[in-house]
Amino acid sequence: MLILLDIDGVMLPANSWSKPEILPDGFPMFNSRSIRALHKIITETNASLLLTTSHKNNYTIRQWHSIFKVRGINAEMIDRLASDSLEDSRADEILSWYRTQHIPNEEFVILDDDKRLSELPAHIKNNLVLTSASIGLTDELADNAITILNRQRADSRTNG
Ligand SMILES: [Mg+2]
Repeated sequence: MLILLDIDGVMLPANSWSKPEILPDGFPMFNSRSIRALHKIITETNASLLLTTSHKNNYTIRQWHSIFKVRGINAEMIDRLASDSLEDSRADEILSWYRTQHIPNEEFVILDDDKRLSELPAHIKNNLVLTSASIGLTDELADNAITILNRQRADSRTNG
């Protein structure tokens, strides 16, 4: 089970009026509401993180584990898209992941504030939880994400 995770606009809301604190690891503190929401998804589904954020190649996977842990999120598995966000649109990156890396029947949810993801084909878009860039991930959106992950699990069970 996978969470395709963006960070800007999801864990870091874009509030012009409040700059998040930069922690000693050089990365900003996540929004506390978004931390609780992501923690809830991980606790209830045991999903792994697949980083889609444009920051994904700025740190090693070991450093990412530490970045999340320091901010209160214990993800057992963290990986990142193989593509480069600076060259491809997020939609293209996710499409290419789906075509080449996604394991059939593996449940996933996409957490992102990029509105262009609404143009993804329906079978991928159905797994999208779009955040508001200025608010980020909320408890309500976390529930949507959990519903999506569980719905898929129920579907794959029905399909044998
Ligand atoms: Mg974003």
